[in-house]
Amino acid sequence: MLEGNGRTELEKLGEFGLIDHIAASVTLQNPSSLIGIGDDAAVIGEGDRRTLVSTDMLVEGVHFDLGYVPLKHLGYKAIVVNLSDICAMNGRPEQVTVSIALSNRFPLEAIEELYSGILMACEKYKVDLVGGDTTSSTSGLVISVTVIGTVAPQDMVLRSGARPTDLICVSGDLGAAYLGLQILEREKRIFVENPSIQPDLTGHDYILERQLKPEARTDIIDMLRQEGVIPTSMIDISDGLSSELMHICKQSNVGCRVYTERIPIDAATGLAAEELHLDVLTCALNGGEDYELLFTASIRAHDRIKDNPAMHIIGHVTESSDGVNLVSGGSLIPLKAQGWRHL
Ligand code: ADP
Ligand code: MG
Repeated sequence: MLEGNGRTELEKLGEFGLIDHIAASVTLQNPSSLIGIGDDAAVIGEGDRRTLVSTDMLVEGVHFDLGYVPLKHLGYKAIVVNLSDICAMNGRPEQVTVSIALSNRFPLEAIEELYSGILMACEKYKVDLVGGDTTSSTSGLVISVTVIGTVAPQDMVLRSGARPTDLICVSGDLGAAYLGLQILEREKRIFVENPSIQPDLTGHDYILERQLKPEARTDIIDMLRQEGVIPTSMIDISDGLSSELMHICKQSNVGCRVYTERIPIDAATGLAAEELHLDVLTCALNGGEDYELLFTASIRAHDRIKDNPAMHIIGHVTESSDGVNLVSGGSLIPLKAQGWRHL
């Protein structure tokens, strides 16, 4: 895989291209490795036991800025974003391990703050912190969390099960976390230019909370179970609705039509977008970090989903030849894959 003297810029591949490239040289050797690279979590087990494993890394300066993210919130979010991946498999998170790399810039009190957030999330979601690793870093803080969960074999939901005519559904509302970040960055810029001006965050509680203290939708998993609905495919919205729709469609080999006017957006998100002169629909489609669930379900589940205020039917699955499309005011807009986000 790494032979030859050529040099290929990672930019060319993009994040997803790089993961595909790594995956192409991996062959699973154990029968218990049921699902490897490519879904929200790996699936291991045999017989009636399925264990889900997922891992995510947060890097200072890339994923968070300690200039405006309190350490307690960072700890909470680091756990939640991992739990969200277990939800996306229709599973239940049970354990986490937490690894940190830090420099001597951080005193004990800072680490206590970080862990107070980590433990608050563990308590809320009833997961146990069972291990991790601690090492030094030359400058910034890095946090890597691995989550372990379970799911019954018949309840497991992959990204690849969507079929034409299925409903496309999303939980909660979208775009708020991105706008929360834009408000924090605006206030930081003002503060850097003039430290005597205090940040003005008034009126933005909802979007700030969505950015700083996201939640994993374990409640949606419970509701679906109560309603007897097993999604045909599911993914959590970490990178943005467009990107996640592309993953579902690619991995299920289907197309889709998503109606822009049905995409759920909170009024507070709309107001913030106006204030910042941003297009709210673009924020909802490409913003990311909402940690809502995007899932498909058989049309037979229509009535059980449509009356639930926490879930929204935003479109339907089509044949792959139809492509991945938004429908806006009667016209079709083909969605394009998102580029590299973090490097
Ligand atoms: P998510 O957004 O749900 O966290 P990612 O896009 O990070 O998912 O990852 C997609 C898939 O690729 C997952 O199965 C993940 O485990 C796998 N993956 C990501 N990075 C690597 C890597 N460096 N080596 C092996 N597998 C990876
Ligand atoms: Mg995910």
